[in-house]
Amino acid sequence: MLEIKGLSKHFAATKAVDDVTVSIPDGQMVGIIGRSGAGKSTLLRMLNRLADPTAGQINFKGRDVAAIKGRELLKWRSECAMIFQQFNLVGRLDVITNVLTGRMYHHGFASSMLKFYSPAERAFAIHALDRLTMSHTATQRADTLSGGQQQRVAIARALVQEPKILLADEPIASLDPMNAKVVMDALRTINQEDQITVVCNLHTLDTARRYCDRVIGMAAGKVVFDGNADDLTMDV
Ligand code: ADP
Ligand code: ADP
Repeated sequence: MLEIKGLSKHFAATKAVDDVTVSIPDGQMVGIIGRSGAGKSTLLRMLNRLADPTAGQINFKGRDVAAIKGRELLKWRSECAMIFQQFNLVGRLDVITNVLTGRMYHHGFASSMLKFYSPAERAFAIHALDRLTMSHTATQRADTLSGGQQQRVAIARALVQEPKILLADEPIASLDPMNAKVVMDALRTINQEDQITVVCNLHTLDTARRYCDRVIGMAAGKVVFDGNADDLTMDV
């Protein structure tokens, strides 16, 4: 269970996230929807501490991850993988190297160099790429791939972290409908097969309704809806 309690993030006068309290059971796939500026991205970024909360708690398995520092914070980030709208691969590196950077925490961040990884670990990375039907691109430079392919590589990189939670910040906003479907199908498959909790910012209710167990609607930093997608009739 991920328990978010009274979580806020203020930027000067802007209450980007304003006193949000939400509990997410293990293995749930949650879609967060809301207009641009509603606070979705800030909420997600606080969960893995890319943004520091102004106030509140994030409890996960007996830890308040809103308050941890140093090595504990690095460990948390390894348990809580994230993918982004713009994929955030290293374009000049090949695909397998990008995926292996997901193993960095497991190596104490000593190196992201390819030679550092054992054959078993490389096999694990290829296996992750295989699950996304991307292993044939292993030796290609990441910047030669299409957007949909890059997002699938980013998901493989997240998978080799062996995360408990996968955060996805507008993962399909830059993709055409066909690639969007491939990426959402992959997230749902991972959620169900690996029992990884998925929290996904989405800009359309339709996608949330199709893929998520639960939809959280945000407006002006607050939760304005939390429930089954089919019950969501309000315009958020
Ligand atoms: P969403 O993801 O729903 O579009 P965001 O979380 O990106 O919303 O933004 C919520 C609010 O916080 C917006 O008003 C935005 O302008 C503001 N905001 C986000 N990040 C910053 C920042 N680094 N500095 C100042 N204001 C910010
Ligand atoms: P070690 O690093 O302890 O010598 P290996 O080289 O066998 O172990 O594997 C490195 C890491 O890769 C392990 O910590 C393991 O978590 C991961 N790994 C390798 N293969 C798999 C797999 N098939 N499934 C899950 N994890 C794997």
